[in-house]
Amino acid sequence: MSQPRLQGKVAIITGAASGIGEATARLFVLNGAYVIIADIQDELGQSVANSIGLTKCTYKHCDVTDEKQVEDTVQYTIKTHGRLDIMFSNAGMTDPVTSIVSVDIANYDRVMAVNARGTITVIKHAARAMTQSGTRGSIICTASVASCQAGNGTVSYTGSKHAVLGLVRAAAGELGRFGIRVNCVSPSGVGTPLACGFSGSSQDEVEAQCAGMANLKGVVLKVGHVAEAVLFLASDESAKFMSGHNLVIDGGNTVVNPLIQLLAPGED
Ligand code: NAD
Repeated sequence: MSQPRLQGKVAIITGAASGIGEATARLFVLNGAYVIIADIQDELGQSVANSIGLTKCTYKHCDVTDEKQVEDTVQYTIKTHGRLDIMFSNAGMTDPVTSIVSVDIANYDRVMAVNARGTITVIKHAARAMTQSGTRGSIICTASVASCQAGNGTVSYTGSKHAVLGLVRAAAGELGRFGIRVNCVSPSGVGTPLACGFSGSSQDEVEAQCAGMANLKGVVLKVGHVAEAVLFLASDESAKFMSGHNLVIDGGNTVVNPLIQLLAPGED
C-alpha cells in the first residue's frame, strides 16, 4: 500500500458495528487512523473492534438518538486521544415499505430520530470539539441516493436522507470559516443487514437486484467501494477543497434516464 492517508488521525464512526461503517473502520485503520467504533449493537461492535485490534480502535456504546451519549463519545475521544480529526456519521435505519396514505407516523419519528436528528446531533458535537481545539477536521455523513431522488426507499427514509443532505450543506456553510469540511456519501443499494432487512432478501439477492438495476454494468456495489469514497473525503490530500459535496456512488443511476437502453447504439 502507498503512504497511509490518515496517519495519526483520530476518527469516530457511528453505526460501525456492521456494513458500511464496519468496512470504513477497517479501511481507516489500514490507513493509519485510530477509530472509535460507535454503535448500539454492543456484542457485534466489540467483536469488530477485537478483530481489528484493540491498539488501533475501541468500541463505545453510542445511541445517536441520545444527545448525551453522542456528547460523551466525543468527550471520551478527546480525553483519551487528545483530538478528533474525522467524524463519520453513518448510523441509519429504515421502516417497512408502506404507501404514504398508510404510513405509520411512529415509524416515521423513529427513522427521523436516527437518520436526521442523529446526524445533526453528531455534527453538532464533532463541530464543537473541532472548533474548540482548532482542528481543521472532516465530517462525513452517510446520506443515500434517497437524498436526491424518490423511489429508492420508503417515504420516511427518503425524507430523512433529504434532511441529511440539507444538514450537510448547512453545516458546511457555517464551518468553512474554521477550515472544517462537511460532506456526505450517497450510495445506491449495498447488500448490508439494513438493505436485506428492508427488502426481505439475502445479501446475494440484494446485490443481484441492485446490479441488475444499475446503469453501469460489470460492477457490484460493495461496502468497500463506499468505504473508499469515505476515505477520499476524510483525507486532507485528496479532498482538501471539497465541502458541502454529495458524493453519489450509484453507477450513474440518478443522472441517467433508464430509457437510454432504448436509444443506445450497438446494444440489443
Ligand atoms: P447496517 O445495518 O449494516 O449498519 C447500520 C448500523 O447502524 C448498524 O450497526 C446499527 O446497529 C447502527 N445503528 C442503528 N441505529 C443506531 C443508533 N440509534 N445509534 C447508533 N448506531 C445505530 O446498514 P448499512 O447499509 O451499512 O447502513 C449504514 C448507512 O448507510 C445508513 O445510514 C444507511 O441509511 C446508509 N445507506 C445504506 C444503503 C444500503 O443499500 N445498504 C444505501 C444507501 C445508504
